[in-house]
Amino acid sequence: MRQQLLDLHEVQKIDVEIREIENQGASVSEKLAKLESSANVIRTEVKTLTEQRETTSREIKTLEGTVQAEAHKLRKWEARLNEIRNQREYLALSREVEGSKRANREAEEKILEFMAQRDQIEKKLDELQDKLAEEEVDCATERAGVERVVGENRERLAGMKKRREVLLPKIPRALLKKYDAIREKRLGVGLVTVVDGCCQGCNMKLPPQLYNILQRGDSIEQCPSCQRIIFWDHFLADQASGAKGQVGASP
Ligand SMILES: [Zn+2]
Repeated sequence: MRQQLLDLHEVQKIDVEIREIENQGASVSEKLAKLESSANVIRTEVKTLTEQRETTSREIKTLEGTVQAEAHKLRKWEARLNEIRNQREYLALSREVEGSKRANREAEEKILEFMAQRDQIEKKLDELQDKLAEEEVDCATERAGVERVVGENRERLAGMKKRREVLLPKIPRALLKKYDAIREKRLGVGLVTVVDGCCQGCNMKLPPQLYNILQRGDSIEQCPSCQRIIFWDHFLADQASGAKGQVGASP
């Protein structure tokens, strides 16, 4: 039973490492996802502003066309004004000329307004594009880092799972099942040592009688407080001083 607990302790060490590696992988991926989503927000803004700039440019072009056509018409009318001798006709055309001039002034003001708008849009676009370029560099760096970490982790995990496979057949199925059920509920830790009568999982002092039973090492015991499987830490020291180079021993 003592050896089985020691083997299970090895499995526990591997499982903690596996859990850490997986958490690390998840956290770097999460960081990358955040960076990418931030870059995407900017990309969408750039797209919206680019569309706005195009709409504004189109408006300017249309207005400029109108102004030009109107100016052409004005020149013709003004030439005709000089030739008109009839007073009523002259007044009527004069009014038309004034109206047309007013419309053109308004259109020109509008053009200036649109141009100012477009300048602002372009300024903002410049800023955003600089920011996007920076964030794209950050994303690329982070992505390379994630790929490296994932690659390294894959190798480490494969090695650890292999070591685990070697240990598993040595542990009774019922014990393994209990261990798995506990670690599921207890932050990945199903088995802990007891040092000086204290559970290293929850720090509780074991009842003396249970501590005595534990030191015999011939039964499976659980901490009355955290329910984790417990074993006496002296077994580890015995193992270290006795059988060296055991399967599953840490490098
Ligand atoms: Zn405990």
